[in-house]
Amino acid sequence: MTLFDRAKGLIPGGVSSPARAFGAVDGDPIFAAHGEGAYLIDTDGNRYIDYIQGFGAVILGHADERIVRAVSEAAARGGAFGLSTEQEVQLASLVVERVPSVERVRFVTSGTEASMTAARIARAATGRDVIVKFEGNYHGHSDAFLAKAGSGVATFGIPMAAGVPERSVADTIVVPYNDLGALERAFEHDVAAVFLEPIAANMGVVVPQRAFVDAVVALCGAHGAVSVFDEVVTGFRLGSGAVQSALGLEPDLTMFGKVLGGGLPVGAVGGKAELMELLAPVGAVYQAGTYAAHPHAMAAGVAALQALEPDDYATLEATAMHLCDGLSEAAKHAGAEVTVVRAGTFGSLFFLPDEPHDFDDVQRSDKQAFARFHRAMRDRGVLIAPSPFECWFPSLAHGEAEIEATIEAAREALRECT
Ligand code: PMP
Repeated sequence: MTLFDRAKGLIPGGVSSPARAFGAVDGDPIFAAHGEGAYLIDTDGNRYIDYIQGFGAVILGHADERIVRAVSEAAARGGAFGLSTEQEVQLASLVVERVPSVERVRFVTSGTEASMTAARIARAATGRDVIVKFEGNYHGHSDAFLAKAGSGVATFGIPMAAGVPERSVADTIVVPYNDLGALERAFEHDVAAVFLEPIAANMGVVVPQRAFVDAVVALCGAHGAVSVFDEVVTGFRLGSGAVQSALGLEPDLTMFGKVLGGGLPVGAVGGKAELMELLAPVGAVYQAGTYAAHPHAMAAGVAALQALEPDDYATLEATAMHLCDGLSEAAKHAGAEVTVVRAGTFGSLFFLPDEPHDFDDVQRSDKQAFARFHRAMRDRGVLIAPSPFECWFPSLAHGEAEIEATIEAAREALRECT
């Protein structure tokens, strides 16, 4: 009996998060045994060059010795204390130093909790209920965010998953990404907050028009709504701060996760003191957590952010450029209808003739070709996320050799599967 067969009898679908199922591709889910830098070794002993890297959480590469040391030392000091720690203050000060729009930060344990907390702050601050989100952006799995667009543009959402009551999404408006007109129309309602991935990373990489990102902040400002940038993926991934800093923007609230936790469970919401201090115990907005700011995660986060020098981002960007240019070239040689999109230090490969600009464009990609490509890459020792809508995350442990081997695998795989 395989581990997956055993898992299926114990865990629904054999996985603890649907993104780990291999439903969209050929073959059974991989069970990770351990990681070494750019490599993932599965429980069958197969060794892969890994581009999942904890869905972007593991920027230094698997089992980086600085993270291992920090977590081991923290573990030796104890587990959950139910009290504040020095490491939490250290991590907060690193975030506040590196992201100008953030004066206060509250740590939670996931991106999902960060968006729940941000929405609650925004609703309390404005006295309004309506939340605007964009199609194809993902802010975690709480009810209010599991909405898909209703009929017509800028109308209230409808539940996108079983078990989400219509009432829970009755105040959520879903607007097409990159659609300024639709965003403006959403403000005909009393909007509490607009949630935006400033570079979309949950429908593959979609880079929005600059004017669209600017408009989110400007329209929120003009209408007394709260702008929330979801930088769970982009925070500390493209540079030592957030994408907003590179754009010279200061959203009211920002969500973090992934890189911030150095591979351990961390989410955070940060922003100006005036808004953030609506949170209990200063204000009346409730948020709590037994494991919030867990000391092991705080230690890993501090180690990760301290390890990341500005030069590292230049190195990672060069790695991502090498990878993405090589994948484009491989597609051209294979005559495959493929578009590779890169956002600084990460990217994605679409089975589409042109760069997508919104969720509808992305939906038109050839999902069967992706499924074949995924399998063909896996057979050649390269692991990418088992969904056409996830990104490729090279880490700082990916060197020339790994990138060249990946491009060579893609040359063959694209020839074979398209
Ligand atoms: N926001 C974004 C942009 C994400 O990519 C994710 C997770 N992929 C989340 C929020 C939710 O984070 P978590 O899975 O930690 O709840």
